[in-house]
Amino acid sequence: MKYPHETAASGEILRLILQKMVLHPAAFTPPNYAVWYEYLAGINPALIRAMGPLLEGDARLDDDTVEKLYSQYVSECSSDIQKFLRGGIRQLLGKLVESTAEATREAVHFGSRLQTHGDALKGDIDSAKLRSLIENLAGDTGKMQGSMQTLEAQLEASKQEVETLNKEIESARAEALTDPLTQVLNRRGLEAAAQPIFDDPASSGNGFCLLMLDIDHFKKVNDTYGHLFGDKVICAIANTLKSKVKGQDAVARIGGEEFVVLLPDTNINGAFIVAEHIRQAIESGKIRRLDSSEHIGGISISVGIASHTTGATLLELLDRADKALYAAKQGGRNRTSVFTLH
Ligand code: GH3
Ligand code: MG
Ligand code: MG
Repeated sequence: MKYPHETAASGEILRLILQKMVLHPAAFTPPNYAVWYEYLAGINPALIRAMGPLLEGDARLDDDTVEKLYSQYVSECSSDIQKFLRGGIRQLLGKLVESTAEATREAVHFGSRLQTHGDALKGDIDSAKLRSLIENLAGDTGKMQGSMQTLEAQLEASKQEVETLNKEIESARAEALTDPLTQVLNRRGLEAAAQPIFDDPASSGNGFCLLMLDIDHFKKVNDTYGHLFGDKVICAIANTLKSKVKGQDAVARIGGEEFVVLLPDTNINGAFIVAEHIRQAIESGKIRRLDSSEHIGGISISVGIASHTTGATLLELLDRADKALYAAKQGGRNRTSVFTLH
């Protein structure tokens, strides 16, 4: 999760951002906000490394610098997320800048009133004058308190908005990683799920494996029953995959009728058992046609398995599983093959 902060924490970050942003000449734009957010929230190490020396050197962040920081370190997010940042946060910043400016005007006014009252105390003063001065002072303080409370309430409302925006950004990110037809991960989702496992293979005590699955003679299924039925088959297979794996395993659709299952903490024997369960469930399943009650059987998949070896990347494992899958197809389809080096 990129923005994991709860209301209280994101509100605190919001205050810090405002304090920092006003000290620099760059315009209050959503990218500027995003740069400060990720810097102050401490969630973007590369950005922190780049910004640290800039700030230490007393540099003023101008539009150009912010733009560079944003495009280099922050903007790997999807266009949907950028839309949220542009729309929601721009509005939010506008409101905040307005209410902060209003409170600043009030504070300046309050200051000059205090000055006036102070000046009045310098000369001779009788008790009636003193009373009226104290009344004025109380009145002015009351007004100032009022406008501070308004600002406080506006900041509180903004905190809620930040929380909502963070949730929306989070769901946009999740959407960007999901295949819309089947709701399993897409290729990018697989990469995101695989990264921590490949970064720290030791956390998978039993090693880990990757299955690549491809529907057999799927062209024929499409040709015989139509593309829509083909889509239904793809969804049914995705559901079978989800139901046959454990919570930590990742299921992804990486091509038209090709799936990948990533099995952390699973050795080759375990992976073979999972693959065969899936293959047999699909082989024995039936799917209802769209326009009749007829159930279609005889759909099968072939599976290739690759197990992780020291230093292997996701791409290498995908390539090995693909080779094993090819062997399963060559061997007659509706079967599972394991990648071997020979
Ligand atoms: P093989 O057993 O060798 O895998 O045979 P195949 O017919 O499945 O061959 P291939 O993998 O080359 O063909 C895949 C076909 O799947 C091609 C395309 O028409 C179909 N297809 C790909 N994506 C989709 C999709 O999203 N929906 C549907 N209905 N069909 C798709
Ligand atoms: Mg294929
Ligand atoms: Mg196929």
